[in-house]
Amino acid sequence: MLLGLPELVAQTWMARHRVQRGTSSERVSASKEAPVPLRLDVLSILGPSADGVLSGEDQEGPVPVIGILSAWSDLVVEETRQRPVSRTVTGLTEHLLHHAEWALRQEWAADFAQELEALTKTLRRVSGIEPARVLLPVVCPTCDLRTMIREEGSGWAAQCRSCPAVRLSAREYAQLVAQQAQAVSTPREA
Ligand SMILES: [Zn+2]
Repeated sequence: MLLGLPELVAQTWMARHRVQRGTSSERVSASKEAPVPLRLDVLSILGPSADGVLSGEDQEGPVPVIGILSAWSDLVVEETRQRPVSRTVTGLTEHLLHHAEWALRQEWAADFAQELEALTKTLRRVSGIEPARVLLPVVCPTCDLRTMIREEGSGWAAQCRSCPAVRLSAREYAQLVAQQAQAVSTPREA
């Protein structure tokens, strides 16, 4: 997820001028009138955390990218004394990547991963990039439906579209595949 962040941020930045998604017939022909308004959702997530575009009022709004990365980077600095080269998205993600192995052994590793996942999701949503999803050839161990997918950038090998709790690591997914392959003596599909 860290590796993909700088590109995702760049794509989100490029989406800042986009008018609300509408049909192409609504598209106004190029004119020299008022500039296309900037999207507040994009600005609020990309803006510097210190002077957030929607300062304080917007409790629902996402904390800007730099704010989230800085907070985790500061934690790394506190414990390792190694500072990021710069406080840009690239500098901060590199800093975090450099200490990723160490970070994964800390007690806050799960929180760190969750926040990165949420950030990635927010950026994808705001920039309009849908993560690629692959339907998997297994049934969900909980709801027993053919709803298992692999979502690009999620960090999971498999998850159920209906059951939020069903998220499998690569090893767990391999086990599930093995179980189901064994259970099915006659394949129902070619
Ligand atoms: Zn399910």
